[in-house]
Amino acid sequence: MKNYKIALLKGDGIGPEIVTQAVKVLNRAAERFGFTISYDEALLGGSAIDATGVPLPPETIEKCKATDSTLLGAVGGPKWDSLPGNLRPEAGLLGIRGALGLFANLRPAKIFEQLREASPLKAEIIGDNLDIMVVRELTGGIYFGERGRRTVNGAEAAYDTEMYSVPEIERIARVGFRMAEKRDGRLCSVDKANVLESSRLWRATVARIGKEEYPDIKLSHMYVDNCAMQLVRNPKQFDVIVTSNIFGDILSDEASMISGSIGMLASASLSEGKSGLYEPIHGSAPDIAGTGLANPLATILSAAMMLRYSLEEPQAAQAIEDAVSEVLKTARTADISAEGIWQVTCEEMGDMVCGLL
Ligand code: ATP
Ligand code: MG
Repeated sequence: MKNYKIALLKGDGIGPEIVTQAVKVLNRAAERFGFTISYDEALLGGSAIDATGVPLPPETIEKCKATDSTLLGAVGGPKWDSLPGNLRPEAGLLGIRGALGLFANLRPAKIFEQLREASPLKAEIIGDNLDIMVVRELTGGIYFGERGRRTVNGAEAAYDTEMYSVPEIERIARVGFRMAEKRDGRLCSVDKANVLESSRLWRATVARIGKEEYPDIKLSHMYVDNCAMQLVRNPKQFDVIVTSNIFGDILSDEASMISGSIGMLASASLSEGKSGLYEPIHGSAPDIAGTGLANPLATILSAAMMLRYSLEEPQAAQAIEDAVSEVLKTARTADISAEGIWQVTCEEMGDMVCGLL
């Protein structure tokens, strides 16, 4: 029987509660689909600061590198807010992403049929089904370019630079094309090639990879300002979007809010190999930690993404996603509660997803 090794970084706030539910669901899926999972827990964020003095202990990096993939809850909280930047929980998060070489960030923005009323968009704009995947470059571009301060005409000035190399663009483009192959066969590459030189290289490189390696994928290009507008005007036109670090940061937040439910949104960050880091997009929600109010579904859906993209268990992934869809008909956590539908705790939600599996 296949055995997978997963590193668990439960983190702070609601992190431990939601990861515990996701583990329960993973174990149930493993049982049903005939594989086993062993877990290795490690510290990250505030809990790591309390235990070791730093947000990312070297042992955590080693453990994550030694496993097939990593599942992360959330980090941070008011307790650590007054620490200097490089010692805060969030620094641990950036550190682990860098240490694992995660260059591609996948953010699905999906509206579950049962939660359509949560979307800020009108029903006729959403249509029957809305399911977008934003693929964001995560380790290059303006967030990592040369920056500094200088004096210009006697005034203080600051600058940041955007730079992408052809290999960097090629590898993120391939992630986008492969994603399109697995989904609807359409890829939209987003840039600002009418203004930025880095975007012109981006567009030419994505177009060449498409022509040479993925001739069957329908590739389109769009300027980022237009894309921001189209996402709320006519989001149905998109399936997979591939874009740079800064544009992806903004567009993935915009796209995900179309669903209206922060407790439902999963994410994956991938490296060159098969392994990845999977986490909900929401934070550690310290205001509701320990109350049973946390929605574990974003973490459960992140675990499903792990099964699909890192562990080659797509059937188990699909079964979890189907179970989540199904459970919403009868039970909801407080954040997505609706009249006439049973309100359950974090743990009860985990149990119900397991039951449906
Ligand atoms: P961070 O800076 O870590 O992103 P944040 O304060 O911006 O944190 P969140 O921690 O994501 O944002 O929380 C924002 C609000 O959404 C909070 O009121 C929180 O209680 C709620 N929330 C976030 N995640 C969940 C969840 N899984 N279930 C229920 N409510 C949640
Ligand atoms: Mg936040």
